[in-house]
Amino acid sequence: MPTRILLALLLSGCAAPGSTSPYLLLLGTAQDGGYPQIACRQPLCEAARADKNLARHVVSGLIVDPQSGSRWLIDASPDLRAQVEFARGHGGPAAAAKGRPPLFDGILLTHAHMGHYAGLLQLGREAYGSQTTPLYTSASMGRYLRDNGPWSLLFDAGHLSQLDLKAGETLQLSPTISVMPIPVAHRGEFSDTLAFAIQGPERRVLYLPDIDRWDGAWLDFAAWLAEFDAVLVDGTFFDGNELPGRDMSKIPHPPIASTLKAIENLPESERSKVIFFHLNHSNPVLDPDSPQSARVRASGARVAWDGMQIEL
Ligand SMILES: [Zn+2]
Ligand SMILES: [Zn+2]
Repeated sequence: MPTRILLALLLSGCAAPGSTSPYLLLLGTAQDGGYPQIACRQPLCEAARADKNLARHVVSGLIVDPQSGSRWLIDASPDLRAQVEFARGHGGPAAAAKGRPPLFDGILLTHAHMGHYAGLLQLGREAYGSQTTPLYTSASMGRYLRDNGPWSLLFDAGHLSQLDLKAGETLQLSPTISVMPIPVAHRGEFSDTLAFAIQGPERRVLYLPDIDRWDGAWLDFAAWLAEFDAVLVDGTFFDGNELPGRDMSKIPHPPIASTLKAIENLPESERSKVIFFHLNHSNPVLDPDSPQSARVRASGARVAWDGMQIEL
């Protein structure tokens, strides 16, 4: 491996290829609508049509234990069909397995917005027709899915079985990997919203794609950053000027600029834990050559990419 790449991996805490340690693989890093977004004619979206390497799938993560081949999906995005191919070779049922074995040892959902659960339909009878897969959600999210079509059919037909997650209670996925749900404030038309603290044998990683604003306990960045080795956080917008013609107060997210401000006086070791994902198609950090991307780099924080691996 070239020294430059090895150094980058070491600095980032990324899993080295061929590692047998558990890791989190990012299957997508865009906001719910994906990048490029439907019918968007802005330069950022046109650039991602011209160069497919710039395009990003909708936010989703895969916890992989390479030794056992087990894997757990975080959020079932509308891009799940492509993401299952993207995740080939990262655990999952044996190629020779008969029937329609579960594609994941479990699925964990954060909340009921389009980008985070629409992909569940790919597991139903019109598509994969999966054998029963455990689905972990908050109680309100579980009720919403079981009580409303088309989701209810996935349970009635035995493709999914829903289990409640309780805030602050650890769910042991394997002897060395666990997940703890953390409730976060986010507009909730159908469900509440969770973030996940993922604990591996070596490292603890926060997965927080959606939050309305940094307030309450989240204002004390030094305290909560200290609990984690890496934090994937809501980077939907860079600042408040991104969506001309739309009322951004209706879709609140903490802008990257304000998050950078909140961490600017922390030591470099803490700032470097911050990784932005859930990027809206309007976000200038989608262009690695933009001044805003340079500002993120200068801060010590990073912008995630599809395929990023974070060691657990
Ligand atoms: Zn979202
Ligand atoms: Zn949301």
